[in-house]
Amino acid sequence: MSKFKFGAHISTSGGVSNAVTNSTNISAKSFALFLKSPRRWVSPMFTDDEVNKFKALCKEHNYNSRTEILPHGSYFINLANPDLEKEEKAYGAFLDDLKRCELLDIGLYNFHPGSDLGSDHQEALKRLAKNINTAINETKFVKIVIENMAGHGNLIGSDLEDIKTVIDMVDDKSRVGVCIDTCHTFAAGYDIRDEESYNAFWELYDKTIGFEYLSAIHLNDSKAPLGANKDLHQKIGWGFLGLEPFRLIANSEFLQGIPLVLETPNDNTPQLWEEEIKLLEWLEGKSKDDPAVLERAAELSKLGKTERDQHSAKYAKKVEKGKKKTTKKGSIKDQPTVIDQLNKRKK
Ligand SMILES: [Zn+2]
Ligand SMILES: [Zn+2]
Repeated sequence: MSKFKFGAHISTSGGVSNAVTNSTNISAKSFALFLKSPRRWVSPMFTDDEVNKFKALCKEHNYNSRTEILPHGSYFINLANPDLEKEEKAYGAFLDDLKRCELLDIGLYNFHPGSDLGSDHQEALKRLAKNINTAINETKFVKIVIENMAGHGNLIGSDLEDIKTVIDMVDDKSRVGVCIDTCHTFAAGYDIRDEESYNAFWELYDKTIGFEYLSAIHLNDSKAPLGANKDLHQKIGWGFLGLEPFRLIANSEFLQGIPLVLETPNDNTPQLWEEEIKLLEWLEGKSKDDPAVLERAAELSKLGKTERDQHSAKYAKKVEKGKKKTTKKGSIKDQPTVIDQLNKRKK
Protein backbone atom coordinates (compact mmCIF):
# COMPACT_ATOMS: atom_id res chain seq x y z
CA MET A 1 0.00 0.00 0.00
CA SER A 2 1.31 3.40 -0.99
CA LYS A 3 1.87 5.91 1.79
CA PHE A 4 1.28 8.77 -0.66
CA LYS A 5 -1.82 10.29 -2.21
CA PHE A 6 -0.79 10.18 -5.87
CA GLY A 7 -3.54 11.27 -8.23
CA ALA A 8 -4.30 13.24 -11.40
CA HIS A 9 -6.32 16.13 -12.82
CA ILE A 10 -9.46 14.27 -13.85
CA SER A 11 -12.13 15.04 -16.45
CA THR A 12 -15.63 16.00 -15.30
CA SER A 13 -17.28 15.61 -18.68
CA GLY A 14 -20.87 14.50 -18.31
CA GLY A 15 -21.15 15.92 -14.78
CA VAL A 16 -18.98 16.75 -11.80
CA SER A 17 -19.73 13.44 -10.06
CA ASN A 18 -18.03 11.59 -12.93
CA ALA A 19 -14.71 12.90 -11.62
CA VAL A 20 -14.96 10.52 -8.68
CA THR A 21 -15.48 7.41 -10.78
CA ASN A 22 -12.90 8.58 -13.33
CA SER A 23 -10.33 8.83 -10.58
CA THR A 24 -11.11 5.42 -9.02
CA ASN A 25 -10.77 3.98 -12.52
CA ILE A 26 -7.11 5.02 -12.61
CA SER A 27 -6.44 4.06 -8.93
CA ALA A 28 -5.87 7.67 -7.92
CA LYS A 29 -5.70 8.40 -4.17
CA SER A 30 -6.42 12.09 -4.74
CA PHE A 31 -7.65 14.12 -7.68
CA ALA A 32 -8.01 17.56 -9.20
CA LEU A 33 -10.85 18.84 -11.39
CA PHE A 34 -12.33 22.00 -12.87
CA LEU A 35 -15.52 23.19 -11.19
CA LYS A 36 -16.69 24.85 -14.40
CA SER A 37 -15.37 25.33 -17.90
CA PRO A 38 -11.90 26.83 -17.26
CA ARG A 39 -12.22 29.10 -20.28
CA ARG A 40 -15.75 30.49 -19.75
CA TRP A 41 -16.81 33.15 -17.23
CA VAL A 42 -20.21 31.74 -16.34
CA SER A 43 -21.41 28.14 -16.07
CA PRO A 44 -24.71 26.81 -14.67
CA MET A 45 -24.57 25.83 -10.99
CA PHE A 46 -24.54 22.11 -10.09
CA THR A 47 -27.96 20.55 -9.58
CA ASP A 48 -28.81 19.12 -6.15
CA ASP A 49 -28.84 15.71 -7.76
CA GLU A 50 -25.23 16.11 -9.00
CA VAL A 51 -24.08 17.39 -5.61
CA ASN A 52 -25.63 14.42 -3.81
CA LYS A 53 -24.19 11.99 -6.32
CA PHE A 54 -20.73 13.52 -5.94
CA LYS A 55 -20.83 13.24 -2.16
CA ALA A 56 -22.18 9.67 -2.22
CA LEU A 57 -19.49 8.54 -4.67
CA CYS A 58 -16.74 10.12 -2.55
CA LYS A 59 -18.03 8.16 0.43
CA GLU A 60 -18.37 4.94 -1.55
CA HIS A 61 -14.83 5.19 -2.96
CA ASN A 62 -13.23 6.48 0.24
CA TYR A 63 -12.16 9.94 -0.88
CA ASN A 64 -11.97 12.47 1.94
CA SER A 65 -13.29 15.49 0.07
CA ARG A 66 -11.83 17.92 2.62
CA THR A 67 -8.22 16.76 2.11
CA GLU A 68 -7.93 14.63 -1.04
CA ILE A 69 -9.64 16.70 -3.71
CA LEU A 70 -7.99 19.82 -5.14
CA PRO A 71 -10.11 21.72 -7.68
CA HIS A 72 -8.19 23.98 -10.06
CA GLY A 73 -9.37 27.53 -10.66
CA SER A 74 -10.07 28.98 -14.10
CA TYR A 75 -6.92 30.22 -15.84
CA PHE A 76 -8.20 33.72 -16.55
CA ILE A 77 -9.03 34.63 -12.94
CA ASN A 78 -6.65 37.48 -12.13
CA LEU A 79 -7.38 38.83 -8.66
CA ALA A 80 -4.42 41.23 -9.01
CA ASN A 81 -5.80 42.97 -12.11
CA PRO A 82 -5.11 46.74 -11.87
CA ASP A 83 -8.37 47.50 -13.76
CA LEU A 84 -11.05 47.72 -11.05
CA GLU A 85 -13.87 46.44 -13.25
CA LYS A 86 -11.84 43.44 -14.38
CA GLU A 87 -10.65 42.78 -10.85
CA GLU A 88 -14.26 42.68 -9.66
CA LYS A 89 -15.25 40.32 -12.46
CA ALA A 90 -12.36 38.01 -11.56
CA TYR A 91 -13.36 38.10 -7.91
CA GLY A 92 -16.92 37.09 -8.84
CA ALA A 93 -15.68 34.03 -10.73
CA PHE A 94 -13.29 33.19 -7.87
CA LEU A 95 -15.99 33.39 -5.19
CA ASP A 96 -18.31 31.31 -7.38
CA ASP A 97 -15.61 28.59 -7.52
CA LEU A 98 -15.18 28.64 -3.75
CA LYS A 99 -18.95 28.36 -3.24
CA ARG A 100 -18.96 25.36 -5.57
CA CYS A 101 -16.25 23.75 -3.42
CA GLU A 102 -18.27 24.20 -0.25
CA LEU A 103 -21.41 22.89 -1.92
CA LEU A 104 -19.49 19.68 -2.72
CA ASP A 105 -17.85 19.70 0.75
CA ILE A 106 -14.41 20.16 -0.84
CA GLY A 107 -11.76 21.55 1.53
CA LEU A 108 -9.05 22.78 -0.86
CA TYR A 109 -9.04 25.12 -3.87
CA ASN A 110 -5.97 25.78 -6.01
CA PHE A 111 -5.55 28.79 -8.31
CA HIS A 112 -2.92 30.79 -10.21
CA PRO A 113 -2.04 34.04 -8.43
CA GLY A 114 -2.31 36.12 -11.63
CA SER A 115 -0.37 39.03 -13.01
CA ASP A 116 0.30 42.70 -12.26
CA LEU A 117 -0.12 43.30 -16.05
CA GLY A 118 2.71 45.81 -15.96
CA SER A 119 1.40 47.82 -13.03
CA ASP A 120 3.20 48.17 -9.67
CA HIS A 121 4.03 44.65 -8.48
CA GLN A 122 3.70 45.27 -4.73
CA GLU A 123 0.30 46.94 -5.23
CA ALA A 124 -0.79 43.89 -7.24
CA LEU A 125 0.21 41.59 -4.36
CA LYS A 126 -1.85 43.78 -2.02
CA ARG A 127 -4.91 43.52 -4.29
CA LEU A 128 -4.52 39.75 -4.43
CA ALA A 129 -4.28 39.49 -0.62
CA LYS A 130 -7.26 41.81 -0.16
CA ASN A 131 -9.39 39.63 -2.43
CA ILE A 132 -8.28 36.47 -0.63
CA ASN A 133 -9.27 38.06 2.69
CA THR A 134 -12.70 39.05 1.38
CA ALA A 135 -13.25 35.58 -0.09
CA ILE A 136 -12.34 33.94 3.23
CA ASN A 137 -14.89 36.15 4.97
CA GLU A 138 -17.56 35.21 2.45
CA THR A 139 -17.02 31.42 2.75
CA LYS A 140 -16.86 28.95 5.62
CA PHE A 141 -14.04 26.44 5.41
CA VAL A 142 -12.40 25.99 1.98
CA LYS A 143 -8.63 26.61 2.03
CA ILE A 144 -7.32 28.89 -0.74
CA VAL A 145 -4.18 27.32 -2.18
CA ILE A 146 -1.77 29.56 -4.16
CA GLU A 147 0.24 27.81 -6.89
CA ASN A 148 3.81 28.80 -7.79
CA MET A 149 4.31 29.88 -11.41
CA ALA A 150 6.82 29.26 -14.23
CA GLY A 151 6.94 32.72 -15.77
CA HIS A 152 8.80 35.84 -14.87
CA GLY A 153 8.20 39.57 -15.22
CA ASN A 154 4.59 40.55 -14.60
CA LEU A 155 3.44 37.16 -13.36
CA ILE A 156 2.92 36.74 -9.64
CA GLY A 157 4.29 33.67 -7.87
CA SER A 158 7.29 32.55 -9.94
CA ASP A 159 9.30 33.99 -7.06
CA LEU A 160 8.57 32.28 -3.73
CA GLU A 161 8.91 35.70 -2.08
CA ASP A 162 5.68 36.83 -3.81
CA ILE A 163 3.73 34.02 -2.18
CA LYS A 164 5.27 34.81 1.21
CA THR A 165 4.33 38.49 0.85
CA VAL A 166 0.72 37.61 0.01
CA ILE A 167 0.37 35.10 2.87
CA ASP A 168 1.78 37.69 5.28
CA MET A 169 -1.18 39.93 4.37
CA VAL A 170 -3.84 37.19 4.80
CA ASP A 171 -5.66 37.60 8.13
CA ASP A 172 -6.84 34.00 8.68
CA LYS A 173 -3.68 31.99 7.98
CA SER A 174 -5.51 28.69 8.58
CA ARG A 175 -7.44 29.30 5.34
CA VAL A 176 -4.47 29.82 2.98
CA GLY A 177 -2.01 27.29 1.53
CA VAL A 178 0.55 26.68 -1.20
CA CYS A 179 0.74 24.25 -4.11
CA ILE A 180 4.20 23.60 -5.54
CA ASP A 181 4.23 22.57 -9.20
CA THR A 182 7.45 20.72 -10.10
CA CYS A 183 7.47 21.96 -13.71
CA HIS A 184 6.78 25.58 -12.72
CA THR A 185 9.45 25.43 -10.00
CA PHE A 186 12.10 24.23 -12.45
CA ALA A 187 11.02 26.58 -15.25
CA ALA A 188 11.16 29.49 -12.80
CA GLY A 189 14.82 28.69 -12.22
CA TYR A 190 14.80 26.56 -9.06
CA ASP A 191 16.78 23.38 -9.74
CA ILE A 192 15.41 20.19 -8.12
CA ARG A 193 17.04 17.57 -10.36
CA ASP A 194 19.18 15.81 -7.77
CA GLU A 195 19.07 15.16 -4.05
CA GLU A 196 21.25 18.14 -3.17
CA SER A 197 19.29 20.70 -5.20
CA TYR A 198 15.95 19.11 -4.22
CA ASN A 199 16.77 19.43 -0.52
CA ALA A 200 18.11 22.95 -1.03
CA PHE A 201 14.86 23.96 -2.73
CA TRP A 202 12.72 22.67 0.14
CA GLU A 203 14.99 24.38 2.65
CA LEU A 204 14.52 27.63 0.77
CA TYR A 205 10.78 27.02 0.54
CA ASP A 206 10.57 26.44 4.29
CA LYS A 207 12.68 29.47 5.09
CA THR A 208 10.69 31.71 2.73
CA ILE A 209 7.12 30.47 3.13
CA GLY A 210 6.97 27.61 5.65
CA PHE A 211 6.06 23.93 5.50
CA GLU A 212 2.87 24.55 7.46
CA TYR A 213 1.37 26.11 4.31
CA LEU A 214 2.30 23.29 1.91
CA SER A 215 -1.07 21.86 0.84
CA ALA A 216 -0.45 20.07 -2.46
CA ILE A 217 2.04 19.22 -5.21
CA HIS A 218 1.50 19.24 -8.97
CA LEU A 219 3.61 16.51 -10.54
CA ASN A 220 4.88 17.46 -13.98
CA ASP A 221 8.11 16.99 -15.85
CA SER A 222 9.20 19.99 -17.94
CA LYS A 223 9.54 20.21 -21.73
CA ALA A 224 11.67 23.33 -21.41
CA PRO A 225 15.05 23.68 -19.70
CA LEU A 226 15.86 25.14 -16.27
CA GLY A 227 14.94 28.81 -16.00
CA ALA A 228 13.25 28.94 -19.43
CA ASN A 229 10.11 30.42 -17.78
CA LYS A 230 7.97 28.16 -19.98
CA ASP A 231 4.89 26.45 -18.55
CA LEU A 232 5.19 23.28 -20.62
CA HIS A 233 4.22 20.10 -18.80
CA GLN A 234 5.80 16.82 -19.86
CA LYS A 235 5.23 13.18 -18.97
CA ILE A 236 7.14 11.97 -15.90
CA GLY A 237 10.74 11.14 -16.80
CA TRP A 238 10.49 12.46 -20.38
CA GLY A 239 11.52 16.03 -19.72
CA PHE A 240 14.42 18.05 -18.38
CA LEU A 241 13.64 17.06 -14.79
CA GLY A 242 13.96 13.35 -15.45
CA LEU A 243 12.87 10.60 -13.09
CA GLU A 244 15.10 11.44 -10.11
CA PRO A 245 13.10 14.33 -8.56
CA PHE A 246 9.98 12.14 -8.69
CA ARG A 247 11.85 9.32 -6.94
CA LEU A 248 12.84 11.89 -4.31
CA ILE A 249 9.19 12.97 -3.95
CA ALA A 250 8.10 9.33 -3.58
CA ASN A 251 10.58 9.07 -0.71
CA SER A 252 9.78 12.38 1.03
CA GLU A 253 7.85 11.55 4.16
CA PHE A 254 6.77 15.18 4.57
CA LEU A 255 4.70 14.87 1.39
CA GLN A 256 2.59 12.00 2.69
CA GLY A 257 -0.97 13.08 3.39
CA ILE A 258 -1.32 15.87 0.82
CA PRO A 259 -2.64 15.54 -2.77
CA LEU A 260 0.18 14.86 -5.27
CA VAL A 261 -1.54 15.49 -8.56
CA LEU A 262 -0.36 14.69 -12.09
CA GLU A 263 -1.10 17.30 -14.77
CA THR A 264 1.02 15.55 -17.38
CA PRO A 265 -0.07 15.31 -21.04
CA ASN A 266 -1.99 12.05 -21.33
CA ASP A 267 -2.90 11.98 -25.06
CA ASN A 268 -6.58 11.67 -24.04
CA THR A 269 -5.79 8.30 -22.48
CA PRO A 270 -6.41 8.41 -18.71
CA GLN A 271 -4.76 4.99 -18.43
CA LEU A 272 -1.42 6.74 -18.99
CA TRP A 273 -2.00 8.44 -15.63
CA GLU A 274 -2.71 5.10 -14.04
CA GLU A 275 0.69 3.95 -15.31
CA GLU A 276 2.35 7.09 -13.97
CA ILE A 277 0.69 6.61 -10.58
CA LYS A 278 1.97 3.02 -10.54
CA LEU A 279 5.43 4.28 -11.50
CA LEU A 280 5.43 6.80 -8.64
CA GLU A 281 4.27 4.19 -6.15
CA TRP A 282 6.93 1.80 -7.44
CA LEU A 283 9.58 4.44 -6.69
CA GLU A 284 8.66 4.45 -3.00
CA GLY A 285 11.49 2.96 -0.97
CA LYS A 286 13.79 2.71 -4.01
CA SER A 287 17.29 4.13 -3.87
CA LYS A 288 18.92 6.37 -6.45
CA ASP A 289 21.32 3.72 -7.75
CA ASP A 290 18.84 0.83 -7.83
CA PRO A 291 19.56 -0.78 -11.26
CA ALA A 292 15.82 -1.05 -12.02
CA VAL A 293 15.35 2.66 -11.33
CA LEU A 294 18.30 3.60 -13.51
CA GLU A 295 17.00 1.43 -16.32
CA ARG A 296 13.51 2.95 -16.09
CA ALA A 297 14.93 6.48 -15.99
CA ALA A 298 16.96 5.82 -19.12
CA GLU A 299 13.96 4.34 -20.97
CA LEU A 300 11.73 7.32 -20.17
CA SER A 301 14.45 9.82 -20.94
CA LYS A 302 14.92 8.24 -24.37
CA LEU A 303 11.19 8.63 -25.11
CA GLY A 304 11.39 12.36 -24.46
CA LYS A 305 14.66 13.06 -26.25
CA THR A 306 13.21 14.48 -29.50
CA GLU A 307 11.05 16.97 -27.64
CA ARG A 308 13.88 17.96 -25.30
CA ASP A 309 16.14 18.63 -28.28
CA GLN A 310 13.45 20.75 -29.94
CA HIS A 311 12.92 22.87 -26.85
CA SER A 312 16.66 23.19 -26.18
CA ALA A 313 17.10 24.62 -29.65
CA LYS A 314 14.16 26.99 -29.19
CA TYR A 315 15.50 28.19 -25.86
CA ALA A 316 19.02 28.69 -27.21
CA LYS A 317 17.59 30.79 -30.03
CA LYS A 318 15.60 32.88 -27.58
CA VAL A 319 18.63 33.51 -25.39
CA GLU A 320 20.64 34.47 -28.47
CA LYS A 321 17.89 36.83 -29.66
CA GLY A 322 17.61 38.38 -26.20
CA LYS A 323 21.32 39.12 -26.24
CA LYS A 324 21.23 40.67 -29.68
CA LYS A 325 18.32 42.87 -28.72
CA THR A 326 20.06 44.28 -25.67
CA THR A 327 23.29 44.75 -27.58
CA LYS A 328 21.46 46.73 -30.26
CA LYS A 329 19.99 48.99 -27.61
CA GLY A 330 23.48 49.35 -26.26
CA SER A 331 22.20 48.70 -22.77
CA ILE A 332 24.11 45.51 -22.15
CA LYS A 333 27.39 47.40 -21.79
CA ASP A 334 25.90 49.86 -19.33
CA GLN A 335 24.45 47.17 -17.10
CA PRO A 336 26.78 45.86 -14.41
CA THR A 337 27.34 42.11 -14.69
CA VAL A 338 26.77 39.76 -11.78
CA ILE A 339 30.54 39.57 -11.32
CA ASP A 340 30.75 43.36 -11.12
CA GLN A 341 28.06 43.41 -8.48
CA LEU A 342 29.81 40.72 -6.42
CA ASN A 343 33.10 42.59 -6.64
CA LYS A 344 31.44 45.78 -5.48
CA ARG A 345 29.95 43.99 -2.51
CA LYS A 346 33.39 42.66 -1.56
CA LYS A 347 34.78 46.19 -1.50
ZN1 LIG B 1 0.04 23.06 -11.85
ZN1 LIG C 1 1.47 24.56 -15.55
